[in-house]
This record gives sequence, C-alpha cells and structure tokens, in this order.
Amino acid sequence: MSYDLLVIGGGIHGAGIARDAAGRGLSVLLVEKDALAAHTSSASSKLVHGGLRYLEYFHLRLVRESLTERENLLAIAPHLIERRRFVLPYRGRLRPAWAVRLGLFLYDWLGRRSTLGASESVRFGDSPYGLPLEPALRFGFAYSDCTVDDSRLVILNAKDAAERGAHICVRHKFIGAVRKGAAWQAEILDEKRGARVAVTARSIVNAAGPWVAEVLQNRLGVVRVRAPRLVKGSHIVVPRLYEGSHAYALQHTDRRLVFVIPYLEDFTLVGTTDVPGSGEPGPAAIAPAETEYLCQVVNRCFRRQIEARDVVWSFAGVRALQDDGATRASEVTRDYALDLDATPGLAPVLSIIGGKLTTYRILAEQALAMLEPYLGALAPPWTSTAPLPGGNIGGGNIDALPASLGRLFPFLGEAECRRLARAYGTRAMRLLDGAKTRADLGEEFGGGLTRREVDYLVREEWARSAHDVHWLHSKAGLHATPADRTRLEDYLAAR
Ligand SMILES: Cc1cc2nc3c(=O)[nH]c(=O)nc-3n(C[C@H](O)[C@H](O)[C@H](O)COP(=O)(O)OP(=O)(O)OC[C@H]3O[C@@H](n4cnc5c(N)ncnc54)[C@H](O)[C@@H]3O)c2cc1C
Repeated sequence: MSYDLLVIGGGIHGAGIARDAAGRGLSVLLVEKDALAAHTSSASSKLVHGGLRYLEYFHLRLVRESLTERENLLAIAPHLIERRRFVLPYRGRLRPAWAVRLGLFLYDWLGRRSTLGASESVRFGDSPYGLPLEPALRFGFAYSDCTVDDSRLVILNAKDAAERGAHICVRHKFIGAVRKGAAWQAEILDEKRGARVAVTARSIVNAAGPWVAEVLQNRLGVVRVRAPRLVKGSHIVVPRLYEGSHAYALQHTDRRLVFVIPYLEDFTLVGTTDVPGSGEPGPAAIAPAETEYLCQVVNRCFRRQIEARDVVWSFAGVRALQDDGATRASEVTRDYALDLDATPGLAPVLSIIGGKLTTYRILAEQALAMLEPYLGALAPPWTSTAPLPGGNIGGGNIDALPASLGRLFPFLGEAECRRLARAYGTRAMRLLDGAKTRADLGEEFGGGLTRREVDYLVREEWARSAHDVHWLHSKAGLHATPADRTRLEDYLAAR
C-alpha cells in the first residue's frame, strides 16, 4: 500500500493533521499503537484557552493564536466545547491586583471575543462565585474561557479524516521506516493479528507525543540535537464541590494556577501538577504527593475540604515540550515546534514537539504548509470553518439540541439528552435512529451507556475495549460498576 502521508500517533496532533490532509485530497494512513486519544490528549485540563499564565512570560503570539483558535473551535465543534466563566480569587501576596487586571485586559483584547463575555472585577459577598470560597477571599476577577471533551475532540477529528478518505488504524504500532529516495518504506505491526504490514509513504508526520524522540531516533534513524523535555501533569476528580457552571483558577503559593472545573454533571475536576519527567515515556499515573498538593490548593481556598479518600478518579499525562532551558517544569514554554528533517530528493519527516489541544488545528495547517514543497501544490486550508462530525448545529446553538432529542425520543431523560447532545451533536440522531422505546437501545453497561451506543462506538469510532468505551469515547466509567465493566468486556469479546 502506498500513501502520500503516514501519520504516527492518534492523539490530537495526529488526528488533526490526518483530517486536514485528507480534506485536501491526500491519501493518508494514521497508525496508533493503542487507542485514539489513549495518552496525553485524554489527560489534559480540558481547556480551550489562550493560557492566561503565559502572559507572564510574554508569550503574546501563543496567547493570541490560541484565543483565535478558541473562536474557530467553538464554531466547528459547538457540541464538544463549552463557554465558561473562570473566577480568579485575589491573593495579594502572589500577584498585585493591578497586574491581574492588566493581564485580563490584555487577554480580552488579544482574544477579539465574539461570543464570550469580557473580564471583570468581582466582589464575592453573597454572589454564587463567593459562596463556596473561604470567607477571607472577598474579591477577585472573572473572565471567559472554554472547556472541551478532549478525547472526543481527537476521535471526531479522526472520524472526519476517515470520512474524507483517510485510513485510521488503531492497535497498529509503527515499527520503523527507511528512506528509499522520495519515499519511506515503513513497517507497521497489527497488534491484534500479530502481523507485520509494509507500506510506502511520500512523507511522514511523527505525532507520537511523549514518544516523539523515541520514534525519530530509534525508528526513523534521525538524531535530534536537543531531546524534548518530558513534564508530567496530573488531575483528580472529586464529587461536585459547588453549584454553578463557573470554574476557578486558584493561585497557589508557588505562583502556579490550579483549575477547579465542574466536570460532567456530578463531579469537579482539579488540576494540574507539573512534575519533571524521568526520561522514558510510558503510561503515566498520579503520585500520592500530587494528590496531596491538589487537595491542599483546594483546601486553602474552599470552605469544603477534600482529601485523598474523596478522589473518585485521577489521571496523568506527559507533555513533550521544547526544551527552552527553563529551570522549573511549570515554566517551560507550552508553544509548539515543527521539526522538519528533509534533504532535497529524499522523503521528509516532520516531528511535532509540544503544543496544546487548543492550537491543534492551526498547527495542522502549518504542518501541511511545510510538507507542501515535497507533496506538490495542495488545496487551500479549509478546516477553520468546516464543522467536525455532529457540529453542524444551527447557529451553533447547542442548548436547543437536548430538547430536540427529547421530542424525537421521549423515552430519554433530560440528563441523557444533554449527555448525548454534548457527545455526538447532531450525530446523536443517527445513533438513536429508529428507536421507539428504551428497550430498542438494548442492555445498559453503566453510566447510561446502552448496547446501541456501544455498537455505534465500535462501528463508527474505533472503540475496541471496555476501557476505550468507558474512559475515552465516553466517561461512563465514572458511574459504571465492576459488574458493568465485566459485562461490557464479555459483550465486546462476543461481538
Ligand atoms: C497535564 C496536561 C494538561 C494539559 N492541559 C491542556 C489544556 O487544558 N488545554 C490545551 O489546549 N492543552 C493542554 N495540554 C496539552 C495537550 O494535551 C497536548 O499538547 C496534546 O494532547 C498532545 O497531543 P499529541 O497528539 O502530540 O500527543 P498524544 O496525545 O500523546 O498522542 C501521541 C500518540 O502517539 C502514539 N504513538 C507513540 N508511538 C507510537 C508508535 N510507535 N506507533 C504508533 N503510535 C504511536 C501514542 O500511543 C499516542 O496515542 C495539557 C497537557 C498535559 C500533559
């Protein structure tokens, strides 16, 4: 098999580049050794944001670009991305009020908001913003940003790529490739069948996230001068800490910002930490000291106190960041670099280092612009306005979609309609098509997940295991019992 582009890695960068390339008519193969969004791209703070903190390091281009992308992503994925107010309680000793106000003013200005509210100073008093906070915190600031379902953002990019002709192969590991003139000869391992497959490609994108250096050096034989810096970040999820849809950005004594965000209907997400990596990429997990740190940050600001035993779920991810020589892990730039290894007449490989979910789309455009000289003239960029699957919601008004689902499928509860609308957008109609009663959706596997939905995830979205279904394609795992999981595993095995 022969392709214009072989993409290594099914995180946000691989999926975003595959989508953009397929939409421009290139033949694309994406290989992911595990599941789509199995690693960093499902372990983020789930923000689509400019990065208020980056202003302190004068990363103005990154902030402006991210804020522009915030608007673009809201337009193309209104189901996955939610507008939210963020409350930043004032802590005098950490940053003076005038500096925070100035920063927020700049943030608003760089953002050229079309649908998000401006920042403001707020006196907490009896306001819903102040109610959960400890009484000594009497005023602060509120500003707008967005949250996102990170793993579904990846999956829907891959889905759109496939609908535009890309081949998406999960549980397929990139073993290695050698250059033969203007083409790469690559070997892929189909993990399920244990079979090795040979493919050729005119170009390669190395979007292997934490494995980017390993893939480049060990599998492609390209030696980089400076390896990326691995930084682990962890989050905890606890039962809902307060009422309201607003989030908090808490300043800690180490000057870091920790976010406290309403998560799904019943939970609150707290994170992140920044822990220097040990060198070897691999599955990441939270350490007890990180849990303690996150509880401490919450306990300094909230009336309600939390401890490790309140944690219902935790997750950790590893960023592969450009090494800019910063001393502390939290200060390493979050900007991205596109590293092209190319020699005239030979097939190129482009490696993605660093980056954010927020900037994945514009990064994909830049990646294709860099490959264009080797692939021939490409169709113009197109992804800033084309909705992701399910995102073609009239006027982007996601709020009306749950009620429409409720009218068409009256046996669904309100919370179910909201969940399905958020996860699938208008594709929820396709998923539910023809169902007249709840029984038509089949047995449940926890968290409201029915056989109909599981079948859809396997057929349309490359879900393969109970873990994929419960934690990546949905978050039903937060409600599922061990028995639900076993039944789901049995069902998938028999299917
Ligand atoms: C703690 C934390 C919080 C973050 N919060 C935010 C946030 O709130 N907002 C934001 O915009 N960004 C955030 N980010 C950044 C963002 O999550 C990452 O930039 C992004 O997910 C990186 O995506 P990726 O595709 O490069 O890597 P990944 O998602 O890790 O994908 C790489 C994929 O490559 C695969 N792979 C590796 N080797 C091979 C091989 N040999 N063959 C086949 N496949 C292979 C891996 O299995 C993996 O799935 C955060 C990051 C972290 C760590």
